[in-house]
Amino acid sequence: MGKTDIRSLSLEETERLLLDMGEKKFRAKQIYSWLHKKQTDDFDNMTDLSVALRNKLKENCEILKLKIVKKLMSNEDETVKYLFETNDANVIECVLMKYSYGYAACISSQIGCRMGCTFCASTVDGLERNLTAGEMVGEVYKIQNDCKNRIGNIVIMGSGEPLDNYDNIIQFLKIINSKEGNSLGARHITVSTCGLAEKIYDMAELELQITLAISLHAPNDEIRKRLMPIANKYSVDEVIKAASYYAEKTKRRVTYEYALIDGINDSKKAARELADRLKGSLCHVNLIPINDVSESGYKKSSEKTIAEFKDILSEKNIQTTIRRELGSDINAACGQLRKSYADKQHDIDPEV
Ligand code: SAH
Repeated sequence: MGKTDIRSLSLEETERLLLDMGEKKFRAKQIYSWLHKKQTDDFDNMTDLSVALRNKLKENCEILKLKIVKKLMSNEDETVKYLFETNDANVIECVLMKYSYGYAACISSQIGCRMGCTFCASTVDGLERNLTAGEMVGEVYKIQNDCKNRIGNIVIMGSGEPLDNYDNIIQFLKIINSKEGNSLGARHITVSTCGLAEKIYDMAELELQITLAISLHAPNDEIRKRLMPIANKYSVDEVIKAASYYAEKTKRRVTYEYALIDGINDSKKAARELADRLKGSLCHVNLIPINDVSESGYKKSSEKTIAEFKDILSEKNIQTTIRRELGSDINAACGQLRKSYADKQHDIDPEV
């Protein structure tokens, strides 16, 4: 049998594991604190455990470590992009962003993605595998450790579709939130999804204070189907209904992300249609100038078009912001760095 991925366990599960190993229950708290408070990824650092117990842990458990293989720092702002290598030699990317209110990390939920959005670099090579809860907390801890600052906000908006990795995401939230560990409040965490409606309902039932962001990108099914295959499964109406249910249940305002693509979804008619669809719901629209991805051929809308789109929404009382483009000089958009890294490896060694 494989080793237990110990960083993916809650405190209660760690306690059960230790009891099963014939150890005292209180050892679990010590180990959990090493993993999630002091945030070490090496059993040998757990100096208040006996060498015998550390060896036993090494025999039965593993910590799925991440290694920094690349770190790019923006010259334009304080954005840092990390490329981490997983224990099975895959790469994932994360972004550290500095805001006036503190540090935020954008983390990945999967290696690759199977959603197939036509504008997104993360999905070009499909899904490799889900990340475990332990690997996701590892992304946060690694960045925290590297930048020597506390991450006050987390957005699960890197590569992957979080709700396609639902159980691990919920476990991740539980661990990162736990008082005995990193203790980050749910209000400081955003889950961004392309709109897996059933999972949104499931998440609403948990009544966590997580912010939900929906990647809508279109005011109707016709345009959305051109951009996002998931639109064939859930209609815009179904997605908005699920998101509104989430808002009602949690009293948290939902964010709709809308990446503006020249000539595709940026007309005044589209803006009016979007406003009508969202009228009266507890929400906020974040307009994103799309990042060019060479595979897609899409171009970002002009500044003028973006401003006009915003004005139409604002006039109809839909709260709207335009996303600041952080770190555009370091490929900070989704999946672009991982992809360019993989392509380069490919150039060097055609066997890869
Ligand atoms: N799968 C999730 C989270 C990852 S994508 C989701 O769909 O929300 C994170 C955000 O980046 C989404 O809003 C996604 O639509 C957006 N995105 C992807 N590629 C982009 C690009 N080329 N330019 C701008 N935004 C992009």
